[in-house]
Amino acid sequence: MTFRRFVATLLEVERASSRLAMVRMLAEAFRELPPEEVPLAVLLLQGRVAPEFEGLEFGVAEKEAVKALALVLGRDEAEVARAVKEKGDIGAYAREVLPEREGGLTVRQVYGELRAIAEDSGKGSQLRKRERLARLLAAASPEEAAVILRTVTGRLRLGVGDATVLEALALAFLGDRGKRPLLERAYNLTSDLAHVARLALEGEEALRAVKLEVGKPVRMMLAERLPGPEQIMEKLGPHYAEHKYDGERVQVHFNGERFWVYSRRLENITHQYPDLLAALGEVQQEPFIVEAEAVVVDPVTGEMRPFQNVLNRKVKHLTPELLEKYPVKGFVFEILYHDGKTLIDRPYTERRQALERWFRPHERLELSSKRFVETTEELVQFFDASIEAGCEGLVCKKPDGEYEAGKRGFKWVKYKRGIAGKLSDTLDLVVVGAWLGRGKRAGSYGSLLAAAYNPDEDRFETLTKVGSGFSDEDLGQVLPRRLDPYRREERHPRVWSLLEPDVWFDPALVVEVEAQEITLSPNHTCAYGVVQEGRGLALRFPRFVRYRDDKSPEEATSTKEVVEMYRNQWA
Ligand code: ATP
Repeated sequence: MTFRRFVATLLEVERASSRLAMVRMLAEAFRELPPEEVPLAVLLLQGRVAPEFEGLEFGVAEKEAVKALALVLGRDEAEVARAVKEKGDIGAYAREVLPEREGGLTVRQVYGELRAIAEDSGKGSQLRKRERLARLLAAASPEEAAVILRTVTGRLRLGVGDATVLEALALAFLGDRGKRPLLERAYNLTSDLAHVARLALEGEEALRAVKLEVGKPVRMMLAERLPGPEQIMEKLGPHYAEHKYDGERVQVHFNGERFWVYSRRLENITHQYPDLLAALGEVQQEPFIVEAEAVVVDPVTGEMRPFQNVLNRKVKHLTPELLEKYPVKGFVFEILYHDGKTLIDRPYTERRQALERWFRPHERLELSSKRFVETTEELVQFFDASIEAGCEGLVCKKPDGEYEAGKRGFKWVKYKRGIAGKLSDTLDLVVVGAWLGRGKRAGSYGSLLAAAYNPDEDRFETLTKVGSGFSDEDLGQVLPRRLDPYRREERHPRVWSLLEPDVWFDPALVVEVEAQEITLSPNHTCAYGVVQEGRGLALRFPRFVRYRDDKSPEEATSTKEVVEMYRNQWA
């Protein structure tokens, strides 16, 4: 397919009136592409040339892209830079000034060039990247150049979520968008959309046969909530409760030679945990995939320190001093692969036995503390013990539950301390808009419009305005710095809102919010019409708690969870 046709589809998709229309347009384009170009197109749709977990970035700053464009236009760099700044978007500017060209580039050619740009590194790479980009732009039509420039500078935001791509692939190659769950399963096991596209092209059997692979992150299983211990006992029956450690969740892969560490968002964070990996390498030489909570401990007393401490490791160059100041201990709670065997479909009890066989004592490693509980009293007792030990509470696990990749279900239920007069759990919401501040907050944002995620519709539905809980520093510097890159003129196509904030944002930043209760509201779209016709759900007395950079927008609290929290709040 010509890249031109592909770009035309993208523009149509951006303007689509509904998600279903989007799915149909994408499916049609997928069908038209030669099979070997489908996975490439799927990556380009995400603005990437490799799955996110591979960490392959373009390494082209906007300044460099401006230089490449100036080269093609034969104009002065400073002049082009000024014009781009004025226009606010390099893509829009390129579309305006580049001459009309027939082009004739194919999807494969553009992908190949972009991939070469991303892979080039080391001495002299900046110049080579710039020249390659300029050559590509010189062969492109203005519309194509706009997409290429937005892609390499990380600004291609099409508003097509993974769920929509999966549904379009299901429609294109299995003839039925209702088969999305089959693709979702493959995606949950491999986290690789391009790979899922390849499998979808082969057909249903290939999708069903997909297995996890050491090195490719498995999308993480998550826990449900229930209002209290009685309800947990009722739902799970006698079960295993484990301490809920408050650190960073890590999924560690080892193929016998090489380690990979993935975060909740499936980012490659291997470089962040050299000490933990050294410990794991000492206890096991056979390939494995395990999950642990990495918790910073006091270097002197060995006591667990709160979550915020691990954030100190999120730096580009982790120095020996930082490692010494913030040592971590890994509390291992899950095993997905060992001894050449995939354990993901095995029941909890069997996985736990395998984990205990896998484990060897080490000063930096511990198995998560667990207890078999048969009564509410035993559960409460173990909960109290967990708090005393410095944990957040418990994660209660159903003995026969398999590991459900990428799902939040009742095979795991979390039990955290409820704070009097407040909802027993906080919500993680996506910032989709904001109102400008007045008075003391003039020049910054006064309050944010925050949304929950609806995975069925693949869209963000508003739940609350949040204006309290921010420090002066948050308001003055942190929020503008974090949010300004996502500002946009109009509502993002994946956001559903009845309110009209002063500014809109791409759904990107996730914040943790606490509140007193959840109420019905005619102004918010979260779970609109689910509890009552003509009403959505809203938070009462919301308060910002912290930034959740460990979560992607699709990992925010789901609209279904909000409905459950609404129904459970009086239980
Ligand atoms: P929260 O904000 O409450 O930590 P979350 O959305 O990050 O929730 P959940 O799946 O709801 O994640 O809660 C389980 C989380 O608890 C896991 O993601 C993991 O990071 C952490 N955790 C700590 N100890 C355990 C354990 N023993 N078993 C499973 N998860 C654990």
